Amino acid sequence: MRLVIMGPPGAGKGTQAAMIAEKYFVPHVSTGDIFRKNLKEGTPLGLKAKEYMNKGLLVPDEIVVEIVRDRLVEGDCKKGFLLDGFPRTVAQASALDEVLQKMDMKLDHVLNIDVRKETLIERAVGRRVCTVCGATYHVKYNCPSRVGICDVCDGKLIQREDDREETVVKRIEVYLEQTQPLIKYYSDKGLLADIDGQKEIEEVWEQITGVLGRDNK
Ligand code: ADP
Ligand code: ADP
Ligand code: ZN
Repeated sequence: MRLVIMGPPGAGKGTQAAMIAEKYFVPHVSTGDIFRKNLKEGTPLGLKAKEYMNKGLLVPDEIVVEIVRDRLVEGDCKKGFLLDGFPRTVAQASALDEVLQKMDMKLDHVLNIDVRKETLIERAVGRRVCTVCGATYHVKYNCPSRVGICDVCDGKLIQREDDREETVVKRIEVYLEQTQPLIKYYSDKGLLADIDGQKEIEEVWEQITGVLGRDNK
């Protein structure tokens, strides 16, 4: 299964993507996670990406496309993949089409998670991430069992630098301007599945398994 999950910042893409990867055995490819990993390791890519991320801006297309292209040729993507946070511009989407065409592959579904603006802000600002394994929590909606500590690995939880309210607001603007046009792009191709992301995590998951199929093939 070859999938894209899209939606504004804080919509719940990463949360649902982790569940999809587990159930349908596809690698979860998150460009945001790749940038954050590079940033943590202090690589040149990480330092470059940080300039944009902390301002709430998109990393330039050339950089992102190259990363995704390199990732999709890795062996584990042969059986399928789930792209989370990519593509984010029409230029990225056409670059992806080209890459897939060369590999003789096609997307199966694009899941589009829709959530109201006030909710997005509340979700992103309350998000906490594990500094060790990257697991995501929410201070109100998806609490860890011990405050500030990861359930999975006991790592310390922090707020992402770009999850401060003013940066979240900027990221939502950038989404509306640069990423929202992809909804039409993929609906014209007959690939779009609209998901109501306003609901609770389990209810959103129900809608997604309704689209992807309840058995895990
Ligand atoms: P969110 O899940 O909140 O939408 P991500 O973790 O996907 O955020 O992305 C964090 C930041 O990483 C983005 O605000 C942007 O700066 C950068 N980024 C991630 N994916 C892309 C992409 N496909 N194109 C450009 N920038 C990206
Ligand atoms: P995205 O990857 O789209 O930026 P995340 O999956 O990281 O979004 O979710 C943003 C925040 O909202 C996280 O703190 C997450 O625990 C929480 N969250 C995700 N889905 C829901 C939901 N359906 N209801 C309430 N909170 C949610
Ligand atoms: Zn952890």
